[in-house]
Amino acid sequence: MNRKSRIAVIGAGLGGLTAAGFLQRAGFAAKVYEQAPTFSRIGAGIILSANVTKVLRRLGLEDGLISAGIKSQSYVSRAWDSGEVVAEFMFDAVAERRYGGPYVHIHRGDLHAVLECGVAPGTIAFDHQLTDVQDKSGSLRLIFANGAVSEADVVIGADGIRSRVREILLGPEPPQFVGATAYRAIFPAERLNGFWIPDCTKWWGSDRHCLPYYLTGRRDEVYAIGVVPAASWDSEETSVPTTRERYLQSFAGFHADLQRVLHAVETVTLWPIFDRARDDRWSAPDGRIALLGDACHPMRPFMAAGGAMAVEDAAILSRCLEKFDDPARAFRCYEATRIPRVAKVQDISIANTWMRGPTETDWFYCYDACTAPLAS
Ligand SMILES: Cc1cc2nc3c(=O)[nH]c(=O)nc-3n(C[C@H](O)[C@H](O)[C@H](O)COP(=O)(O)OP(=O)(O)OC[C@H]3O[C@@H](n4cnc5c(N)ncnc54)[C@H](O)[C@@H]3O)c2cc1C
Repeated sequence: MNRKSRIAVIGAGLGGLTAAGFLQRAGFAAKVYEQAPTFSRIGAGIILSANVTKVLRRLGLEDGLISAGIKSQSYVSRAWDSGEVVAEFMFDAVAERRYGGPYVHIHRGDLHAVLECGVAPGTIAFDHQLTDVQDKSGSLRLIFANGAVSEADVVIGADGIRSRVREILLGPEPPQFVGATAYRAIFPAERLNGFWIPDCTKWWGSDRHCLPYYLTGRRDEVYAIGVVPAASWDSEETSVPTTRERYLQSFAGFHADLQRVLHAVETVTLWPIFDRARDDRWSAPDGRIALLGDACHPMRPFMAAGGAMAVEDAAILSRCLEKFDDPARAFRCYEATRIPRVAKVQDISIANTWMRGPTETDWFYCYDACTAPLAS
């Protein structure tokens, strides 16, 4: 696409910032508009597998990720009651070479601070909530809630599961509650009183699971996410405060090692989990609007892959825009390249089977969105 084209990325999440970073390196003028007034350190962690870290390495961010987070050494799957180790996956130096990148856990706030370093200073316009996109003789006019107006030739909707860009493109279709909620707690590791835990463990119950993991290389901060069934979600909020007692109650009967971790929890919040039925319309046929990440394919978080798919989308979309003069062709190539992989990941995420027992992981972790063949 013509390097003079103005590209507006809506949303400074994982996908939006990665896309802007690659587009700027390819010579495009890419600007990011974010509704939040600033980034905040919300109480949650995230796993970035090798297929993500090797992409972010191209933006010069790998060292920042490793120093803000932790290079995990292993992932252990354990049975909820007996504590039996049913599978163990190593992420040591040998695995890092095999997969082509480290397996990193990081606090989401720290991740955002690192991602911001991947774009040119002044790229992100905070406090800019997009409300509308209007056709203005050839270009697109962007309207923001703060009264600002801007123009672009191409708009990339990287604005998450409640994407306004998606709504403008495809009409309203609210995400659906999947019948599960997630407890999320971060606490200092000293509260474990010396009790040793692996870098990452997934405790598998029949209808619930809990995943405690370290967030820093010093192993001084622990994140424990516990997913349980729930009949409904009645709050308008994206999360509500809850208590350690409720968290413990939800995992009553689980092995003593997990109880020990959950007893160390201080403050905890409860989050609803939403997704949307698969829809392969990710762009406008005229080549002016495209979606990426949760805006077009929200994932259940059971494979820790939603962010990964947003980052991969961003790298592939940028390569397609670089390759084709006609953005409509670029979008078709982007969709054809991404949809088969994303659909597979979406299915596994729904089934919640990833790495429960011995699992072939190469197809997922060895994938490199910066070099993978583009669909013809
Ligand atoms: C409990 C849980 C645990 C998870 N764990 C993992 C994990 O370990 N690993 C993993 O890879 N994924 C994980 N995920 C999934 C991951 O968080 C998402 O898939 C990922 O954040 C999607 O990235 P995105 O860039 O598409 O959207 P987001 O990260 O949601 O970013 C969207 C951005 O757009 C902004 N925005 C929204 N609307 C507007 C607007 N109108 N105007 C301007 N800005 C706007 C938002 O403020 C936000 O900054 C998890 C999800 C959940 C719910």
